[in-house]
Amino acid sequence: TKPVYAFEEADSENRMLLGGKGAGLSEMTRLKLPVPPGFTITTEVCNKYYDNNRKLPKDVMPLVMKNIEKIEKKTGKQWNSTKNPLLVSVRSGAAISMPGMMDTILNLGLNEKTVGGLAKQTKNPRFAWDSYRRFIQLFGKVVFGVNDEKFDHVLESAKTKQKVKDDSQLSVESLKKIVSEYKKICESHTKRKFPDSPNEQLGLAIEAVFKSWMGERAIVYREKNNITKDIANGTAVNVVTMVFGNMGDDSATGVVFTRNGHNGKKEIEGEYLINAQGEDVVAGVRTGKNVSLLKKEMPKSYKELSNACSKLEKHFREPQDIEFTIEQGKFYLLQTRTAKMSAMALIKTSVDMVKEKLIDKNKALTRIPAQQLEALLHRTMDESKVKNHKQLAKGIAASPGAASGIAVFDVKKAIELGEAGKKIILIRKETKPEDVPAFFSSEGVLTSLGGKSSHAAIVSRGMGKPCIVGCSELKINYDNNTCAANGTTVKEGETITIDGSAGTVLIGEVPTVEPKVTKDFEQILSWAQKTKSLGIRANADTPEAAKLARQFGAQGIGLCRTERMFNASDRIGLFVDMIMAENIEERGKVLKKLGQLQKSDFIQILKAMEGYEVTIRLLDPPLHEFLPNPEELAEKIHKLEKKKATKELKEAKIILKRARELAEVNPMMGHRGVRVGITYPEIYEMQIRAVFEALVELTKKKVKAHPQIMIPQISSIAELNHIKKIYDKIKKEVETKNKMKLTINFGTMIEVVRAALTANELATTAEFFSFGTNDLTQGTFSFSREDVEGKFLPEYMEKELLERSPFQSIDVNGVGSLIKIGIANGRGIRKNMEVGICGEHGGDPSSIKFCHKAGLSYVSASPHRIPIAIVAAAQASI
Ligand code: PEP
Ligand code: MG
Repeated sequence: TKPVYAFEEADSENRMLLGGKGAGLSEMTRLKLPVPPGFTITTEVCNKYYDNNRKLPKDVMPLVMKNIEKIEKKTGKQWNSTKNPLLVSVRSGAAISMPGMMDTILNLGLNEKTVGGLAKQTKNPRFAWDSYRRFIQLFGKVVFGVNDEKFDHVLESAKTKQKVKDDSQLSVESLKKIVSEYKKICESHTKRKFPDSPNEQLGLAIEAVFKSWMGERAIVYREKNNITKDIANGTAVNVVTMVFGNMGDDSATGVVFTRNGHNGKKEIEGEYLINAQGEDVVAGVRTGKNVSLLKKEMPKSYKELSNACSKLEKHFREPQDIEFTIEQGKFYLLQTRTAKMSAMALIKTSVDMVKEKLIDKNKALTRIPAQQLEALLHRTMDESKVKNHKQLAKGIAASPGAASGIAVFDVKKAIELGEAGKKIILIRKETKPEDVPAFFSSEGVLTSLGGKSSHAAIVSRGMGKPCIVGCSELKINYDNNTCAANGTTVKEGETITIDGSAGTVLIGEVPTVEPKVTKDFEQILSWAQKTKSLGIRANADTPEAAKLARQFGAQGIGLCRTERMFNASDRIGLFVDMIMAENIEERGKVLKKLGQLQKSDFIQILKAMEGYEVTIRLLDPPLHEFLPNPEELAEKIHKLEKKKATKELKEAKIILKRARELAEVNPMMGHRGVRVGITYPEIYEMQIRAVFEALVELTKKKVKAHPQIMIPQISSIAELNHIKKIYDKIKKEVETKNKMKLTINFGTMIEVVRAALTANELATTAEFFSFGTNDLTQGTFSFSREDVEGKFLPEYMEKELLERSPFQSIDVNGVGSLIKIGIANGRGIRKNMEVGICGEHGGDPSSIKFCHKAGLSYVSASPHRIPIAIVAAAQASI
């Protein structure tokens, strides 16, 4: 490969080398679309720059200058000329697009000499000096690290002095003054003269773009979006002939999607600004006009735009996100990339493009990042309750879903409060890339400026969080942390609700409702169902959850955690009584009542999942989890003693004694799971009986129920056989009593390392396995699943000791090996044995890919993640 490629000579397939933007520009050049001439410095040069101690390799600048000469020939403009100066933009572009995360410099090549040339050539000195001013500001910020506010301050006071509102009203004289002030700002910051030589400017700019690859915000973005080195290694630099959207009223610049990025409709969607530069649209500083107006304002350019849109879509077979500029009536394309769309839009465009025969069904499925589907399952406002809440304001709906939270105006505070577990709505005039960490800790984002292509909108959409932008009636005041509209003021800490699908902001917490699955979504799910081979089950513990999971497409329940049923308010008291029982008779009485409750729960859940298997897991947590915390209880006792509340006191003391008896230093590895079943067999007996009796009742009603009983925390065949005897005894009793044969598969979780290693022994009794990868991961790493994510794990990821949390995405090399051993051992004894997974990993797309390859029978995930799992399973099998 070469270090530098002109657009027309690059291999546009090679995105790793050219970056997305470079590849797009060269592909558009090949398609003979109107792209300003330019060239790409490859990502390989970026890596060499870092290997070389942050210095450009020697051969790069001479090649760059050769390519500048080529541009001179193509455009007839000259570098560093006083007559017809060639100016360029210097833009970053990695293989995976990272919108706004890295740096760009415009109008490069301007200096005291060439600015005059530009003025003459365009017959517009105001334009020339304004371009020069913008150049110094960007260059100062990006190359020298000067704080933007310093420049803004100069600009604002110039406007005040000249008594004008808009930048465009500033006179040439004041622009010249601004330029000289701007230079002074840079010079006092760097203690060097502002570089006038375009060659030096270009060298510094290229280095600055390379540097921005390792800038903090770029690193955070890559981490959060799982952009690893194998998919984007370094940034390329694109040097492109400047074309100007700010040359007057016959010039414009805009950003459009070839299809609606919000709902997927087939229409060009986006914004443009007359007489402006591209950055103005992207930064959301000025709110753009809807692109449909361009049709009237500049019909010829609109036609060119719409032709380019369909040509690019046909070529890339993906909706595109396009930047264009119209310079004195001449239309140019500056960028094309795959449009980042909302989940809803991805689904609709997938279905539409199949109908249009642009893509096939497999492509339709694989182009949807499964993780994003969660956004479609977001809650919406309960329409019947909306009327009880005052509408504060309305803005542009930028990312769907409804969310409530407290108003927070400060980025740092949003991060702090969010991490402390508060629900936050981040309210800003506009957002910048460095604000991204606050997006993660907020439920939703609301800005008063910007359009659908602004930073806040794009970032939120990518994250599947509700967002409203351009809410111009909302007056935000950072000094006293309030916002106000239509006579109502909201202070920091007050609750609001935003609806990112409608653009409305409401006062207070509006109740939200479960989302509905659209027709297009159903279509995608049905294609995915037919394509996938993995089974999909749900982790569900209530009849409601079971119903929802089934609606979403679950084919059974892979994990019903029976202890969750004891946590319901009408049973927790009974369960505590059971623990406190002084003898077995007393415990027996309470267990009988609990058994009735469980039986009726099982009946409802099995009914909701009629025809499918429902894996019911017997009690897992240690008993003390159901009792009050001993320290808190001791404190309460202390207070009761003061109050002399004798009866309550006596009771509390008894509970405290029991809580202390049961307390453990390390409960996760303590008296839980099957160990409880062995020491308190009456509990497991009750649960097993409840399952059998539920089956009797349903069989009598001809409901096709398929319960399975699963034992947690098994580490040896001896434990499993011990419980199997109880199971056999109860089965026989219930069968005899009801004079019917009952089939309930008996299986085990594999969540203890020893269980995976001795799965061949377990399979002699167990009829099925289910991997509990939460505990298995905990045991394999000796990482406490409850603690690590808030403690050392973030630092592990920062230091690249771990790429992801092993509790979110399966650790293929370690835990994955145990799973493979477990499957091979189990199926060595019982061919075709049913083996599933029910840890949190069951809803994670990359873990699902692993499960598919490992030959698991099914994955089990929480109801809201079922559609993700279905699509991910289909993708794994394509
Ligand atoms: C597991 O350990 O993966 C599991 C599903 O069980 P629980 O999360 O209830 O411990
Ligand atoms: Mg477990």
